[in-house]
Amino acid sequence: MKLARTVEVVRCAVRSWKKEGLHVGLVPTMGFLHEGHESLIRAAVAANDRVVVSVFVNPRQFGPDEDLDRYPRDIESDVEMCANAGADLVFAPDVEVMYPEAFATTVSVAGLTAGLCGKSRPGHFDGVCTVVCKLLNIVSPDRAYFGQKDAQQLAVVRRMCRDLHMPVEIVGCPIVREEDGLAKSSRNSYLNEAERISALSLRAALDLAHELYAAGERESAIIIEKMRALMAADPLVRVDYIEIVDQGSLAPLSRLYNSALVAVAAFVGKTRLIDNTLLSGKS
Ligand code: AMP
Repeated sequence: MKLARTVEVVRCAVRSWKKEGLHVGLVPTMGFLHEGHESLIRAAVAANDRVVVSVFVNPRQFGPDEDLDRYPRDIESDVEMCANAGADLVFAPDVEVMYPEAFATTVSVAGLTAGLCGKSRPGHFDGVCTVVCKLLNIVSPDRAYFGQKDAQQLAVVRRMCRDLHMPVEIVGCPIVREEDGLAKSSRNSYLNEAERISALSLRAALDLAHELYAAGERESAIIIEKMRALMAADPLVRVDYIEIVDQGSLAPLSRLYNSALVAVAAFVGKTRLIDNTLLSGKS
């Protein structure tokens, strides 16, 4: 497996694969890879002839008071995981490669980015869309893989690709969790022992939503209120948002009919975590 630092090296590799008629998958990441990322890489390996994993902590998707400087990084272990999972190329560019001097373009998706994380992280999805658009243009994959863990990101990227006629299939992959239910995240490494326990309240609130739904509750406001009360009981947890929305449009749903996305964001200590689940008509 190769490690590429420049656009030219990636393009050259992909060109030669495509000449052979091979299909290429891309897994965009910010590195510090865990089993959640690994599941995306393995899904890409299973469905494509060649797989590129990008590892880039994208400064444009961090707000001024966020954790860009302390975001965890470990390229050696990332490269090892990618090789073990069957990837063919890791693209790990420096910031100057992705954003050279006088870089002036922003890709912005309206509407879908207004609520949820877009509301509490202004500019975040402009950063995400700009970097994902660049990565798709650099690699020109047949398929690109994103986790349902970042459900809004997945919906936004799908819309961007559709709106811009980008010739790529966006594949969504299920959330991978720790044994106790905490969604795997690079940011879990920030949590101390007490916070790690408190972090379970996100999953507990989502479980409660399922229980209430199974018992016949269909009023979003009631489900949200009970989830909020559960999370508020933990002094280390501060809810950012709890919302019940349509999975595709991300529009808030006041009553539940078929299926709905329940999305949660909360600070556990200083660490902001997100999680979500799908309530489906059949549950
Ligand atoms: P990140 O490195 O956090 O930007 O994540 C890179 C990709 O991995 C995104 O598409 C995420 O949604 C996905 N991902 C992160 N954590 C998980 C997880 N626990 N399960 C599944 N996918 C994940």
